[in-house]
Amino acid sequence: LAKKMKVLEKRIPQRYPDVKYLNYRSRKRILITGGAGFVGSHLVDRLMMAGHEVIVADNFFTGRKQNVEHWIGHENFELIHHDIVNPLYIEVDEIYHLASPASPPHYMYNPVKTIKTNTVGTINMLGLAKRVGAKVLIASTSEVYGDPEVHPQPESYWGHVNPIGPRACYDEGKRVAETLSYAYAKQEKVDVRVARIFNTFGPRMHMDDGRVVSNFILQALKNEPITIYGHGKQTRSFQYVSDLVDGLIALMASNYTLPVNLGNPTEYTIEEFASMIKRLVGRPSTIKQVAAVEDDPQRRKPDISRAKKYLGWEPKVPLMDGLQKTVHYFEEELQRATHDQRN
Ligand code: NAD
Ligand code: UDP
Ligand code: UDP
Repeated sequence: LAKKMKVLEKRIPQRYPDVKYLNYRSRKRILITGGAGFVGSHLVDRLMMAGHEVIVADNFFTGRKQNVEHWIGHENFELIHHDIVNPLYIEVDEIYHLASPASPPHYMYNPVKTIKTNTVGTINMLGLAKRVGAKVLIASTSEVYGDPEVHPQPESYWGHVNPIGPRACYDEGKRVAETLSYAYAKQEKVDVRVARIFNTFGPRMHMDDGRVVSNFILQALKNEPITIYGHGKQTRSFQYVSDLVDGLIALMASNYTLPVNLGNPTEYTIEEFASMIKRLVGRPSTIKQVAAVEDDPQRRKPDISRAKKYLGWEPKVPLMDGLQKTVHYFEEELQRATHDQRN
């Protein structure tokens, strides 16, 4: 036990990261739902460092306390264990509504809950925004385009979604979340922002969330076969998490109220991506084709002209730089897991 306590003590940071001083006029109270998750926790870091008051509401389905533990105890930070399917009565200026499982195996695990989170949960956040007059940003997704027939995807494209397929709980859930946002904007004058987020990766991604980036990196590090689902000719475009956080903050600050794609337009086939990870990690893993998944979108690449024009935003981090940071994070996590097992 003494040994375990020592390890725990080491993990508790001695000092909070440096935050900016803001006077009360420019300091905002900001709610981040899903703030203990991958994207949310990076957004928490950025807003805390900028000197804002940050409240995280999370049910820890896919998020972890560890992602935000370095802020626990800070006077500007509050962590609420809360499921957003239930109402939440607090006073805030801005809401970043990110709560929802994001990786296909996670959102398919309990499809009914995924739908409730994205519909009832979103109604609650819009109701909260309406009551307190807060601005609300909804984290939507490139999945609203489904298996797209238009390439690259501009925001004007209505999408191609199977309403009863295995991905529908998420795709349709997010589509309703968007519909709700504009209904509340029109009817109740709620100030909404909608970010259509494309595939994002970086440190604090869930190790075994089954997404392609985490799967390939873990497989390469463990010297296991890299699993390509289907022929591997399907494409994705990957953005590093710090670019997304820049985009979310720029969108919240802007006056632009229609949906905005946030993603990196550099496109790779999954096959190419597997070779890149293999080369980067530098271990002799083999590449193995396994069965394709149902309704897998075949091509995905954002048209980001809108974000460039209205937010002055475009991604900055080259894929290799982001991947290096992510590989490093996964290496550390693997070491930590082995260490914890031994003790
Ligand atoms: P994540 O799974 O790491 O984070 C989601 C967070 O929401 C977790 O902390 C989870 O515990 C929490 N959550 C889930 N259901 C909840 C509920 N009912 N009540 C309260 N909290 C709940 O995923 P992420 O990658 O950080 O994604 C964040 C948001 O961005 C999601 O809305 C997702 O749909 C969207 N998004 C992400 C990507 C991506 O590539 N990462 C792409 C498109 C959209
Ligand atoms: N809501 C909430 N926090 C608030 C205000 C509302 O969680 O501060 C929830 C509440 O559960 C409500 C939902 O948001 O059912 C929608 O609110 P709205 O005012 O639009 O609807 P109503 O209360 O009239 O059903
Ligand atoms: N994929 C793969 N091997 C894996 C995991 C995913 O080939 O181990 C493929 C998957 O079929 C899809 C792409 O990689 O074509 C991206 O999958 P992911 O689950 O990361 O996210 P999606 O973009 O489908 O939501």
